[in-house]
Amino acid sequence: MVKLYIVIPCYNEEAVLPETSKRLKEKLSGLMDAGRITRDSHIVFVDDGSKDRTWELISGLHQEDRLYSGVKLSRNRGHQNALLAGLYSVKDRADAVISMDADLQDDINAIDGFLDKYEAGAEVVYGVRSSRKKDTFFKKFTAESFYKVMNFMGADVVFNHADYRLLSNRALNGLFEFKEVNLFLRGVVPMVGYKSDVVYYERNERFAGESKYPLKKMLAFAFEGITSLSIKPIRMIISLGFLMLFVSVILLIYFLVQHALGHTVAGWTSLIVSVWAIGALQLISIGVIGEYIGKVYLETKERPRFIIDMFLHEDEVLYSVSEKNA
Ligand code: UDP
Ligand code: MG
Repeated sequence: MVKLYIVIPCYNEEAVLPETSKRLKEKLSGLMDAGRITRDSHIVFVDDGSKDRTWELISGLHQEDRLYSGVKLSRNRGHQNALLAGLYSVKDRADAVISMDADLQDDINAIDGFLDKYEAGAEVVYGVRSSRKKDTFFKKFTAESFYKVMNFMGADVVFNHADYRLLSNRALNGLFEFKEVNLFLRGVVPMVGYKSDVVYYERNERFAGESKYPLKKMLAFAFEGITSLSIKPIRMIISLGFLMLFVSVILLIYFLVQHALGHTVAGWTSLIVSVWAIGALQLISIGVIGEYIGKVYLETKERPRFIIDMFLHEDEVLYSVSEKNA
């Protein structure tokens, strides 16, 4: 049986909490009765410095029923940090943790699928949206562009996967080996490695309250993701420099031909060629410096060089700490 924790970041969610807590309780009771999860499994709400009655509701739930736990952040730190705080609080208690949003947009019936895959040996299970039928054109377009741009920029994210996922205890501890302050979960979780799997689900509309993720926050989120995960933007400067150098060589030939044919004003050829060549050299130089800054940047993150999955030694299997593999 799995000791399951569900972690839910909440920011000004008084409108949805009563319903969310009720439905999740039903879901978990069902799973407990079916003998799939232990009776001491929990639902952890993380209050991300809400300005409304969110924390009163969470502590009220906790008073009524110990199924519910609450983590209160000192102030608003944003969805990613709130989620991390929740995960951190349960990392030594849970066999598996599922993170989801407070607004029930993530279909809670996918939890069964998550558990199936976990029991089949996956340490990370990604919830992936099967379609975006219920999204407006604008949301669909911006969201799908988000994943494409992210991948192009060197931040490997799972397409159409947000933060609805299951992490095993091992994967969770692997995650916390990443010491960087700007921990972009969607990019770092795949870096943790281990066996992973995917569960498809239909994403619903938020049933009450309004989105806490306006376009402005989404753009900031994407920018954070790219710059905190990869140094590809720096590499692009070098590529641009070489591209320009190539163009300048082509132009040089063209200008020389024009010069030979006498179509040009005196001095123009040498001027225009220098402009292109110097521009190219400058870009390449900036790119090279950037490359070193990028290295320094990545070093400061002190990322783990590796995370060992298993160590077969004599008659033992070491490092394989999760109960299901034992
Ligand atoms: N959230 C949070 N802190 C914030 C903003 C949002 O903890 O500063 C939580 C919010 O309560 C919800 C989740 O992040 O549980 C996703 O937010 P939302 O549903 O508003 O985003 P959308 O689904 O519209 O992208
Ligand atoms: Mg939502």
